[in-house]
Parts: sequence; structure tokens; C-alpha cells
Amino acid sequence: MEHKKSEKLYKEGLKHLVGAVNSPVRAFASVGGNPLFIKKAKGSKIVDVDNNKYIDLVLSYGPMILGHRHKKVEKAIAKSLKNGYTFGASTKNEIKLAKIVCDAFPNMDKVRFVNSGTEAVLSALRLARAFTGKDKIIKFAGCYHGHSDALLVAAGSGLATLSIPGSKGVPNDAVKNTLIAEYNNLESVKQHIKKHQDIAAIIIEPVGGNMGVVLPKDGFLKKLSDLAKANNILLIADEVMTGFRSKFGGAQEIFDVTADITCLGKVIGGGFPVGAYGARNEIMEMVSPLGAMYQAGTLSGNPIAMASGIATLTELKKQNPYKKFNKTAQKIEGYLLKSAKKYDIDLTVNRFGSMINPFFTSDEVTDFKTAQTSDTNKFGIFFWEMINNGVFLPPSQFEAWFLSTALTKKDIEKLAIAIDNAMKKVASHN
Ligand SMILES: *Cc1c(COP(=O)(O)O)cnc(C)c1O
Repeated sequence: MEHKKSEKLYKEGLKHLVGAVNSPVRAFASVGGNPLFIKKAKGSKIVDVDNNKYIDLVLSYGPMILGHRHKKVEKAIAKSLKNGYTFGASTKNEIKLAKIVCDAFPNMDKVRFVNSGTEAVLSALRLARAFTGKDKIIKFAGCYHGHSDALLVAAGSGLATLSIPGSKGVPNDAVKNTLIAEYNNLESVKQHIKKHQDIAAIIIEPVGGNMGVVLPKDGFLKKLSDLAKANNILLIADEVMTGFRSKFGGAQEIFDVTADITCLGKVIGGGFPVGAYGARNEIMEMVSPLGAMYQAGTLSGNPIAMASGIATLTELKKQNPYKKFNKTAQKIEGYLLKSAKKYDIDLTVNRFGSMINPFFTSDEVTDFKTAQTSDTNKFGIFFWEMINNGVFLPPSQFEAWFLSTALTKKDIEKLAIAIDNAMKKVASHN
């Protein structure tokens, strides 16, 4: 497989863009080699500038749940384009999408649209602080909540628990109110609560998706929710990845927990920049113009993005693909484990609905620490052999593979063969 044109664009891109990318994971740093440049995509496939075609399990890191260029979404966008691009005033479609979103989450009376998951989360934190009048927040090691200052902690290492910033440029002052707990460890949350009076919120990815897929243990979320309630702390569910993806009502529907504030992104815009945060009236009425918590956006609720979101969520609701996603993911898990066993490779597979993650480790992966036991070199070899076999995966051991409704039976068969070839390649490097 040739990547000549990608290589050429990469070199050119390096001159004008930082690392030739606009988001770091796209740089392929953790799998070695240079990034591919994409020309186009349709359905379950994505095509690079050298005309190599891949089954796409990246899906832009989640948003393209219906596959690329779904007919109904494309039609809705085309129709909306004719009316203009942005007005800086309210439109009917904002209400329509808000209704769909609020109906999906039981604890959400009102929603505010923003332009990214990062924005949704940083606004939700501000809201929790405004509502409770308290400053501290608890986040979990390994959970990613976008790149705002207060949350760029413990997206990283063992030092994480000491609240050391995970990025240069984040002042210690910005993270001094961020407390770190261990995912799936209620005791670690209790200890913070015992020690600190002024905790406004606990923020969590109800299913971890940014340390690889990590599931909550039985009862963990329920107990966390009870603990928060008992201490007048708001629970913020960051469902930017899981919202609409593994169930229409997100992970909260599956685990039967309701957070006080829910953050959304990715799927909600169907490929356009949309994020959202929502809660019950009492909380949302704190937000300007009803209340004194300020948050704004020139392009928030952008008409084209709203049209794309409405069409995507409407079609998703109609198709209700969640059972099928589970079955497909189960199948893929089977292929992974079978091939790993065949070639004597340590592998643990975690999955949640349409998100699946093979970890190159024999350990059970239940939190950030256990995820870190994975052999990332093996993943790198696996990744490139999957590319050679026509499968586009996220270029990191710690990113979920995403399924779309556009995947065909033939794709799945091809995937099984690719997986076997890639495992064989991994074994040959042992
Ligand atoms: C992707 C993601 C974000 C950040 O969203 P952006 O749109 O990239 O800013 C926040 N939280 C979670 C759980 C995510 O997966």
C-alpha cells in the first residue's frame, strides 16, 4: 500500500500547521509513522489521498454514527445551506434539536448548545459552581473532558493524583480546585469528600472512553450518584462520547442513573461542531440570560449544524441500531480474542455498545492504571497491519473503535481477516 501523496502533504503541512494536524491524536505519534491525509468518505468507507480505501472505525472519533454522508443528513444540510449559514439570532431548528435532546435525557428540562465537547464541559463546571456556590470538583484519573485548564489534569500519569497539570501552560492555580479520584473506586471519592467541604461537582465519563473503553463496575455509578446527592454535590455526566452512541439516552439510560448535568457532543452534531449541556430547570435557570452565570457563543446553535444534528438523531432514533451494535461488537470481540489466542498474544477486550477496545495486556482493564499495562508497541504494529489490510483505526491504544450503522456484512468479514493478519504480524515481532 502506497502513501506517497499523504507523505508529500504531511511534509507540506509541517511547514504551516503544528505537526501538520489540528488535533494531536491525528499525528499518529503513538503508533509511529506519519499521518494519512483523507480525501473523502462515504458510508462505512474512508479514502485517503492515495486512493486507498479503508473500513472506517474512527468515524471522526465518534460523530459519524450513521456512516459518512448519510442521504437524509446530506439532504437536510443541503436544504439548510440555501437559507444562509449563520444569523446570530434564534432559529426554529434550535428548538427542534433541543426537544429531541431533552426528551432523550430524563433529568434535562433545558439545554444550551455550544460548539464542542470542551465547551460543553467547561460551561457545565461553571454552572455547577454557580449553582452550588462551591469551587472544588472531583474528576477521575484517565477521564478526558476536553482541553480546558481545570480539566487537563490526570489525563496522564501516576503523578496525576497529585493534581499536577497535564499540560504546560496550565497554571497551578487553575487546577488547585481539581481533585483526582480513581475510576471504579468509590473510596477514593469518599476520601476527598471527607477532607473537603467545598466540592461543587463530580464529573465522570459514565463509561470511560478516553483511556480506552473502561466500564463502570456493578453499582459504581449508582453509588456515586447517591454519594453526590447525600453531600449536596452535583453529578456531571460527560456523555460527549457515549450520548446517543450506545443507547439513545446514553450510558445513563443503560445504567439507570441520572446526572444533575449532562454534557453532549460528537454524535449530536452528526459531523458538525455541536456540543451541549443540559439539566433540570432549577439548574439551567442559572445560565444567562435567565441567570447570572455567563456563557455565550457567536456560532452556537449554528443552523447548518442544527440541521445535521436533527437529521442524524431522527434517523438514529428511527433505526434504533443499538441491539445490532452490541451484536456486531460481540462478533468483533470474538475475532480479536480468537486470533490473539491463536498467536499466543495477551489481549483483553472491553466493549460498550458501539465502542470496542482491544488492550494488549493480560490484565483486566478497570481503570487508568490497568489500561496503562497495555503494550503500546504491539498496538502500533497491529495498527499499521490493519491499515495495510484496509481498516482505519484510531492511531492510539487508548482510543475506542467506533461502529456505524453503515457497516456491512462484507465489512465485518473483511475485518475478521484483517484482525487475524494483524495479530499474526504482532506475533512475528515477539
Ligand atoms: C471528545 C470528548 C470531549 C471533548 O470534545 P471536543 O469536541 O473534542 O472538544 C470531552 N469529553 C469526552 C468524554 C470526549 O470524549
